[in-house]
Amino acid sequence: MNKPHPIRSKLPQVGTTIFTTMSGLAHKHGAINLSQGFPGFSISEALISLVNKYMIQGKNQYAPMAGVQELREEISALQREFYAANYDPDSEITITAGATQGIYTTISALVHPGDEVIMFSPAYDCYSPAVEVNGGRTVFVELNSKDYSIPWEEVRQAISENTRMILVNSPHNPTGAVWTTEDLEKLEELVAGTGIIVLSDEVYAHIIYDEVKHVSVASSKRLKDQSVIVHSFGKTFHATGWKMGYVLAPERLMQEFRKVHQYLVFSVNTPVQYALAEYIQNRNNIQELSGFYQEKRDYFLSLIKDSRFEFTPASGSYFQLLSYRNITEENDVELAKKWTVEKGIASVPISVFYPKLTDNKVLRFCFAKENEVLEKAAEILCKI
Ligand code: PMP
Ligand code: GLN
Repeated sequence: MNKPHPIRSKLPQVGTTIFTTMSGLAHKHGAINLSQGFPGFSISEALISLVNKYMIQGKNQYAPMAGVQELREEISALQREFYAANYDPDSEITITAGATQGIYTTISALVHPGDEVIMFSPAYDCYSPAVEVNGGRTVFVELNSKDYSIPWEEVRQAISENTRMILVNSPHNPTGAVWTTEDLEKLEELVAGTGIIVLSDEVYAHIIYDEVKHVSVASSKRLKDQSVIVHSFGKTFHATGWKMGYVLAPERLMQEFRKVHQYLVFSVNTPVQYALAEYIQNRNNIQELSGFYQEKRDYFLSLIKDSRFEFTPASGSYFQLLSYRNITEENDVELAKKWTVEKGIASVPISVFYPKLTDNKVLRFCFAKENEVLEKAAEILCKI
């Protein structure tokens, strides 16, 4: 028999994601799964009824390529209310199959072979592979290890004539850090008026704590015209399995985005789009989210305050980092696996989000869970 031709991998360094690995291990060993980020409670019954309503009404065929008009109009209104930003529903908003597709599509539409994309490590896992598979080069700038703030002078030094894009993410996954208006101003100083495109991952925009207002790139008059913003309904409505999100961009960038989008997915789930359009008319369904998750964060932290872990409360997202520096020197990936198997609690090791696997002895825990799950998890953590 002939030997099959070898495959020339486009992503030779890439394996299975940490989320799949840790959730799989948690499942296998019956561990409490605070690793992969997904809510452990049911979604709104009203929202489910709306999907059902539109399915029964017959909204079951292809949606328009850019998304259902009613939903794009609602999103446009939201952007005006929350950020005083105008996005034309016809030419500047596209509904996507989650933020992951929005990010991938943006990168593949705008990054050419040889282009450099600056991003911050620890970086959410889908960013860099999307750059590489499109022939681009990722340039990582490491966030300050103390508070995960952005070292702007290093960003300045990282910019070259090949820089095509800077990818920002606030609230930040995996650290829960949130950037400030000063950060936005620093970014403006560096890139406003250049050909550099800002890709802003704002999937946790509505999960932000301590009365802090989310700072969106959309609110920057100097950056809006060179920025693409990605959102996810999965985060906002506890429905990560629906894979629904949206992208905002000025028309000239959105035109390029849609050229790829139309051949990648063409359009996304029709009845869910109608349901979301109606559901978000009640802004409270979005605005209550921060308070809801802040209670979860505070409850979880109160339960583990006497443990040996060190932490700074997350400023946004539903992830809490815990440092185990006082407990052991072990490698974070090994430890996360060991504690899943031996202690019955799964988390995500942070080193996997650094290009050089920098191990600062920190694990990420998702607190988007029922209180009783958090109590059981805290009991385990307090015994470690
Ligand atoms: N960006 C960040 C920072 C995320 O945490 C996630 C998912 N947790 C995504 C993008 C992807 O979102 P989606 O599930 O809508 O594709
Ligand atoms: N975004 C989720 C997290 O950070 C995981 C999504 C996924 O599994 N790809 O945990």
